[in-house]
Amino acid sequence: MLYIVATPIGNLKDLSLRAVEVLKSADLIACEDTRHTQILLTHYGISTPTTSFFQHNRFTKGEYLVNLLKLGKNIALVSDAGTPGILDPGYNLINLAIKNNLEVSFIPGATAFVHALVLSGKPAHEFYFAGFLPNRSGARRNQLERLKKIGCTLVFYESCHRILASLRDIDTVFGQREIVVARELTKKFEEILRGSPDSIQQRLSRGRPRGEFVIVI
Ligand code: SAM
Repeated sequence: MLYIVATPIGNLKDLSLRAVEVLKSADLIACEDTRHTQILLTHYGISTPTTSFFQHNRFTKGEYLVNLLKLGKNIALVSDAGTPGILDPGYNLINLAIKNNLEVSFIPGATAFVHALVLSGKPAHEFYFAGFLPNRSGARRNQLERLKKIGCTLVFYESCHRILASLRDIDTVFGQREIVVARELTKKFEEILRGSPDSIQQRLSRGRPRGEFVIVI
């Protein structure tokens, strides 16, 4: 069985009892970054062996892990944070396991965009999760113009390096609309910023923006 196990997006206590059980009893844990996941495993006294499964080895390692599954091994798949498969290489292994008619089970938990959407107070009965916006401003604005036409709540992931530039482009495309920027969810410096793109951009410009962000429009 391939167990897809959601792990915390910040606060180590956000791991389900079932996730702990599965991580303890699996034969192997496939992690994006074994050193990063080791912090969580040590916290819960889990000594299951780990192996790396990340962007650059996802095809070769994927085949290797599928062969282990075919031999009857139980493998737990985790990502650096949150739900495997949501914008991380977990998708490739899940897809490969399904194509090979292997059993797949999901142990649910945190996902940053769901957390931000719920906290935003914006309509969540219909929303569009658009992942990361393009790097370049021109492409980003085009994408925002396209998404604006959808006419429902929009959710994006963003890094500290691009948050200011993205907010500038959101201001250009959406203007004085109230948006929400969620920073460092479940962590010590969690912050929920509400206001126009321009006002949030100004608040974040006071220092160098740090941490991880979700934008809800
Ligand atoms: N698999 C993850 C999930 O389930 O949400 C997402 C992985 S994606 C590579 C990483 C992005 O998720 C970050 O750049 C950030 O936008 C968002 N993210 C992850 N943890 C976060 C947190 N604690 N607070 C805000 N955003 C977070």
